[in-house]
Amino acid sequence: MMSKKVGRVGLGMDSHRMESGRPCHLGGVLFEDCPVGPLGHSDGDAVIHALCDAILGAAGLDDLGTLFPDTDPKWKGVGSDLFLKETISLLDKENYRICNCDIVVICDEPKIGPFREKIRKSLAETMAILPEQINVKGKTTEGSDTGRVEVTAIVLIER
Ligand code: MG
Repeated sequence: MMSKKVGRVGLGMDSHRMESGRPCHLGGVLFEDCPVGPLGHSDGDAVIHALCDAILGAAGLDDLGTLFPDTDPKWKGVGSDLFLKETISLLDKENYRICNCDIVVICDEPKIGPFREKIRKSLAETMAILPEQINVKGKTTEGSDTGRVEVTAIVLIER
């Protein structure tokens, strides 16, 4: 008998305050000329955090904060790529694979647009999938000046 594929969606969101002088890591890419960066226990990469929560949610697993608590000194200052790698290995264990991810990043600084391809490549490499399976859109607040980066990610997985 042919087994039927099961698809599941997951949604993840994250928001970090942007502070001057912080290194700006978003989507696994370092924005070297950006004067502000996300404040956080880890590197504050809100793109990866939202993406991990979307993946974990789709698979019905614990969320990022439960798996990698910010009270645990083990995770202080670590690169969020590590969270994404761990998340993917949990997904592998459940025999799921990523179909595609779509990500929206809202911030005034840095401008995401020129770095879309770089972010897609970086995330794809960490997740061991193709850049074509990841989409990234950058939006500004058009002067609302929230001083934050806000990210929404949606993911489809199947097994
Ligand atoms: Mg976060």
